[in-house]
Amino acid sequence: MGRKSRRGKGSFRHARAQQTPRALPRDVAAFFGAETVEGPSWDFGRPYILRRVGAAGAKKNYVCPGCNGTIFAGMAHIVAWPQEGGGRVEERRHWHTRCWERR
Ligand SMILES: [Zn+2]
Repeated sequence: MGRKSRRGKGSFRHARAQQTPRALPRDVAAFFGAETVEGPSWDFGRPYILRRVGAAGAKKNYVCPGCNGTIFAGMAHIVAWPQEGGGRVEERRHWHTRCWERR
């Protein structure tokens, strides 16, 4: 039985598999362009932090929780997350601007 020795190279593979959550400043409202607004009705109107993403900042497709439709890369849209969550990446939702307005 010949044993193949593997080289250690494969261990770098997982590095980009997940977005690494960044440490965010405690006061997320200090983010450029961030506003605090009333959240969606299905989240009991909790205060949300809202940020507008310009077309240039929209680099990939997202699913909008308002309509379950796609927000395509290159579309200006809204990012919002519960204020008390501290803005963790997994709490953020991308919305069509129109869907957010009728949340
Ligand atoms: Zn939508």
